[in-house]
Amino acid sequence: MAKPSDPVTILRGVGPTKAKQLEQLGIRTLGDLLCHFPRGYDDRTRLVNIADLEAGQSACFKAMVMNSPRTAHIRKGLDITKVTVADASARLSLTFFNQKFTADQLTVGKEYVFFGSVSGDYFGYGMTSPVFESPECPPVLTRRILPLYPLTAGLSNAALFKAVTQALAICNPPEEVLPPEVLQEYHILPADRAYTAIHTPKTMEEAAMAKRRMIFEEFFVFSAGLAQLRRTRQTRRTAPYTDTDLTPFLAALPFPLTGAQKRAIEDIRRDMTLGIPMNRLVQGDVGSGKTMVAAAAAFLAIRNGRQCALMAPTEILAEQHFASLGKLFAPLNIRVELLTGSLTPKEKALRRERIAQGEANLVIGTHALLTDSTRFANLGLVITDEQHRFGVGQRSALGSKGENVHLLVMSATPIPRTLALLMYGDLDVSLVDELPPGRESVDTFLVSEALRPRINAFIRKQVTEGHQCYVVCPAVEENEELGVKAAEVWAETLQNTVFPDLCIALLHGQMKGKEKETVMAEFAAGKADVLVATTVIEVGVDVPNATLMVIEDADRFGLSQLHQLRGRVGRGKAKSYCILTTRNRNPETLARLKALCATNDGFQIAQEDLKMRGPGDFFGSRQSGLPVFRCADPMCDLETLQQAQQAAQPYRNQAPSPALQMRIEALFARSDTAPN
Ligand code: ADP
Ligand code: MG
Repeated sequence: MAKPSDPVTILRGVGPTKAKQLEQLGIRTLGDLLCHFPRGYDDRTRLVNIADLEAGQSACFKAMVMNSPRTAHIRKGLDITKVTVADASARLSLTFFNQKFTADQLTVGKEYVFFGSVSGDYFGYGMTSPVFESPECPPVLTRRILPLYPLTAGLSNAALFKAVTQALAICNPPEEVLPPEVLQEYHILPADRAYTAIHTPKTMEEAAMAKRRMIFEEFFVFSAGLAQLRRTRQTRRTAPYTDTDLTPFLAALPFPLTGAQKRAIEDIRRDMTLGIPMNRLVQGDVGSGKTMVAAAAAFLAIRNGRQCALMAPTEILAEQHFASLGKLFAPLNIRVELLTGSLTPKEKALRRERIAQGEANLVIGTHALLTDSTRFANLGLVITDEQHRFGVGQRSALGSKGENVHLLVMSATPIPRTLALLMYGDLDVSLVDELPPGRESVDTFLVSEALRPRINAFIRKQVTEGHQCYVVCPAVEENEELGVKAAEVWAETLQNTVFPDLCIALLHGQMKGKEKETVMAEFAAGKADVLVATTVIEVGVDVPNATLMVIEDADRFGLSQLHQLRGRVGRGKAKSYCILTTRNRNPETLARLKALCATNDGFQIAQEDLKMRGPGDFFGSRQSGLPVFRCADPMCDLETLQQAQQAAQPYRNQAPSPALQMRIEALFARSDTAPN
């Protein structure tokens, strides 16, 4: 018997060429091959009558050959062979292109089982190049369920299937990682049966059972991993904070905290006195004031003699936190340091030295913070802002930065509860479910291109009243994507032809860090009237004087993303507006955008987004931070997810088996290396 770790080249018919093609699909070993699951099935078990064939569908039928195949030579390189077959219900004409040899195997007066796709026109139905076999032969191409695999250039489904069936015959399936009681309680197919069934199911029900098992297993492995993270963290110890008096911090604040902010801060304060490293998620809609919650946590850590690191997903956001927290903490004698990728090496080294010496109390930066060359003298707390941009493994990497540090993650992505469990299952959660007082909702309008003059007039009105505007474009340069507004060109147009007397600034992700900083700082200081930008301003940016956001070609963005963008306005006392423009006339697209106009509730929008766009797209895949599953779709398979999470609960108290442990590590590694 071969092992799952044996290379695919031990299979008959798999030489260097096939091996290379398989490698394109990430398949190196027999185990990989067995884990290359079908994306669907061709159910050829049902035989239909010729009279019942429907054009455009694939079908299997049994019929007798009525005449010997006739081949016509049309031109060089094109032979057409025709043959007529019939069953009790009707006749059908079969056509083969350059397959004379194949067609000639059909004997007049004999019955065959055919499979192919039915074409139909005014003159009747026909079939082109069907596969066929004798009803006496064992079912290979017909009368069975055929798996359809994800393929790569040069590799046919048949070749892949052949390799898989061989592997099934000679190789033990991957080891069972689900405990027997779980298999029983949740009616899960055991591994050995499931691997056979997913590739060569006898019935579609069996295929579905096998697929459910694979999905369950993936969720189970992931949930067990999260439970394990939680368990090991619970066994860690850290010195409890003794000084948890927030009075000086509260006195320095320009406003009283909201009830929700107070509750979240209280959760954090309690965590910090326990002597176990905190591991908490603060979740709250855009504008709910999460930064102050983070600031309070930082204050507590620093007051207890520790350093705090605050990580942001973009330099712009890091910059902004540095500006606002620097101002807040200056009177409290807390030294704040900024560390971003765009600093000169010399400056970076200087700041790192101050961090290593413990001269800096609060360090704010991007991922650059995470690199090994940054050493902290006495790190006590790590905060990540806009956590939905970091994966679970990045999270655990953060923890390893200091011995048993407290971890606080902040996210504005309103996601359904079960998904939150999936992304943050190892965390305790505080909700900031209340906006600061006096916040009016942002009025949102969907307008067509015809109203462009009125949009421009509205921008001017806001500026005249002393406010500022954002204009968001889907692309940076003109030729990037055909037919969508490009920030560079649009900024120029606005400056040169529409608002020559106003100051129009430009900001996009391809600009240098220093440049971005300057533009953002100037806009925040009120030096520019209109900021034309790409989605670099999507997260965190806080300029309360901005009261209008125009989003060009809004149909290019997801609803939740639009909601995040819109969260950049409505941050001050003045009434704020968001205008969505679109040239798209698709009723579904328009309905989607109108849903955004109807509510300011991030959670409701997330649900709506989910409903309309369907699974998969929801997170805008690139920034998900979700684990990378092979067959599970966390949006579709919610029920299975819940069951698997339930089944993995025991790992909060007990260690997983070595086999399960290996699978957990593989899944986490895969999820972290995926583009985030
Ligand atoms: P989030 O990060 O949750 O999207 P921010 O922390 O950026 O939100 O806060 C949004 C705005 O609300 C900021 O301008 C902030 O100064 C202000 N703010 C925060 N908390 C309060 C409060 N309790 N009262 C009044 N304004 C607040
Ligand atoms: Mg924020």
